Amino acid sequence: MKLPELGTQLLNHVPPRLLSAAERYLKNVPLLRDRLAKETDSMLADLEHGLKPYRGQFPSFDTLPAQGLSHEEVLNKMGVMEAKEHERWKEGFVSGAVYHGDSEHIDFLNRVYALNSQSNPLHSDLFPSATKFEAEVVAMTASMLGAAEANAGRAPEEHICGSLSSGGTESIMLAMKTYRDWARATKGITRPEMVAPTRAHPAFDKAAHYFGIKMVRVPVGPDYRADVKATRKALTRNTIVVIGSAPSFPHGVIDPIEELSELARKRGIGFHTDACLGGFVLPWARKLGYPVPPFDFRLPGVTSMSADTHKFGYAAKGTSVVLYRGTELRSHQYFTATEWPGGIYFSPTFSGSRPGALIAAAWATLVSTGEQGYLDATRRILEAADAIKRGIRDMPDLHVLGDPLFVIAFGSPTLDIYKVMERLGAHGWNLNGLHKPPAVHLCVTLRHAQPGVVDRFLADLRAAVEHVRANPGEKGTMAPVYGMAATVPFRGLLSDLLKKYMDLLYKV
Ligand SMILES: *Cc1c(COP(=O)(O)O)cnc(C)c1O
Repeated sequence: MKLPELGTQLLNHVPPRLLSAAERYLKNVPLLRDRLAKETDSMLADLEHGLKPYRGQFPSFDTLPAQGLSHEEVLNKMGVMEAKEHERWKEGFVSGAVYHGDSEHIDFLNRVYALNSQSNPLHSDLFPSATKFEAEVVAMTASMLGAAEANAGRAPEEHICGSLSSGGTESIMLAMKTYRDWARATKGITRPEMVAPTRAHPAFDKAAHYFGIKMVRVPVGPDYRADVKATRKALTRNTIVVIGSAPSFPHGVIDPIEELSELARKRGIGFHTDACLGGFVLPWARKLGYPVPPFDFRLPGVTSMSADTHKFGYAAKGTSVVLYRGTELRSHQYFTATEWPGGIYFSPTFSGSRPGALIAAAWATLVSTGEQGYLDATRRILEAADAIKRGIRDMPDLHVLGDPLFVIAFGSPTLDIYKVMERLGAHGWNLNGLHKPPAVHLCVTLRHAQPGVVDRFLADLRAAVEHVRANPGEKGTMAPVYGMAATVPFRGLLSDLLKKYMDLLYKV
């Protein structure tokens, strides 16, 4: 072990509160501060080049052009950029990101958008079609996720219901805000807490941050699934909701939703299944005979869910569904303003105006794909994923983390996995780097179910492993950054760096 690594290891054992105090102190030492600023600036300058490839190649605008460009010119420029950018995802070199991507499907979505581009459900009197599409997307998604069983013999106000949002993050944030307001109104809880496994999506932290809810993260077991015992211990009188993922984004494993939701039900608090990723896969995987533990509204303790139409629902980017058990719970999501001189105002989600065209595209995708379409797509994805898992398990230097269905995380007991990822990058692959523990994942989509993609991936992976094994001294450029980001004990500095990176994104 090298000295800096030893230092990092030691620092990782310092209590977090002491560490952030030390960090604040160190940040204010002028010499260190200047040195840090210099290092940060040079690192960002290196990254800037790769982030802004069109500079010099196309005109940049930091002010309106005096005379507008011709439509022709605008379309030409965009066409050139799009052609460059679609190469990687079209050929299946990318983890997740584009979940369907067949040209025919995209053309269809574009025609639906063109027909509905002026539509906005805020004006439900002008665009009753948008309202119809939204209601039906919510109903179809609910029905796919166990609504029939959950609703049987129940009064209509206890039926599964929901809203369409702009994406998984908004669905999750809506649900968390709903629980906050519900718990305040019905239980008088003013210092709410949510309990989530460490692997649950950061959208829950974002909700906690925005809505003043305390986030309590609980560790996962060796199989990367939520630890039920630890979850039970984390519950307090202020807990308003427990969270489970089906499956989790990093490792693609499904939490023990049945046990977790029972914990919540026995206490009379909420349970949210985050099925943003799996909502449109797991119901069909179960029908195909894959082992899928219960995760949806068939479980009486599950009181809300999120499922992304814009992931494996195959709709255009910008829609997701949030579902609730009963209209009473959903009513805590709604907003009304009765005193505004602009008229009485109400809005079910965070946005005011909403893109009717994207809602129409979600509806069009669901009704044109149908059950058979989702079954076929899921079969192709799971077959590709099975072949990839087999291939990785056959490589002695690699191991698959947990027992995933279609998001395959792998690490290495012998090699620096970030170097393997970087090597794969040289072959054109764009995978997700994970940390704690160091690993890489591939979220399998229809792009990978195209002929030849799985074989190409496994061949490139084998070559990458060989290369890293044969060149242990090679440093790489991004691998050390990943290694550093995974182990640096000063998380505040890392957060500052990420904020600087976001500033960079906004540079013209
Ligand atoms: C993608 C994802 C989210 C967040 O969805 P966005 O659409 O990116 O906002 C939340 N949870 C899981 C499990 C996801 O995979």
